[in-house]
Amino acid sequence: MMVHEDCVFCNIIKGDIPAAKVYEDEKVFAFLDIAPAQKGHTLVIPKVHYESFMDMPKEELSAVMEAVKKIAPAVVEGSGAEAFNLGVNNGEAAGQVVMHAHFHIIPRKKDDGLQMWSQGKYEPEEMEEYKNRILAVL
Ligand code: 5GP
Ligand code: ZN
Repeated sequence: MMVHEDCVFCNIIKGDIPAAKVYEDEKVFAFLDIAPAQKGHTLVIPKVHYESFMDMPKEELSAVMEAVKKIAPAVVEGSGAEAFNLGVNNGEAAGQVVMHAHFHIIPRKKDDGLQMWSQGKYEPEEMEEYKNRILAVL
């Protein structure tokens, strides 16, 4: 299904929910996140409703990525930032709240205090074990 009636992002694309749009083309839409990690935080989404970017055909995924490459430098410069994080929360346990595929572009400055994730450590042999577990699935 192309549009989900009860999806907030589908309704933003349709214009039924207002949003601060920064970009639109045939396949892609981008707008400011209402609760920014940093001001200028932008969401880039496919116009077709997919729950996850993992479900997107390669043409649409590459259109979204091309748009990210266009939009991210503008987000950085327009926000007076120096760099950006590109993020995906894929799945509920990873923090995905809106089940319409989206990429977060978060403008960053040195010492802005934002920590995207903490750094843990492996016990001896554990890294090798995880490598092998992943390889077994691939
Ligand atoms: P997720 O946690 O699913 O990766 O991110 C969803 C994002 O969508 C959140 O950062 C949230 O602030 C943003 N968001 C949710 N509802 C709305 C909305 O109605 N308008 C806008 N502009 N952003 C929204
Ligand atoms: Zn949707």
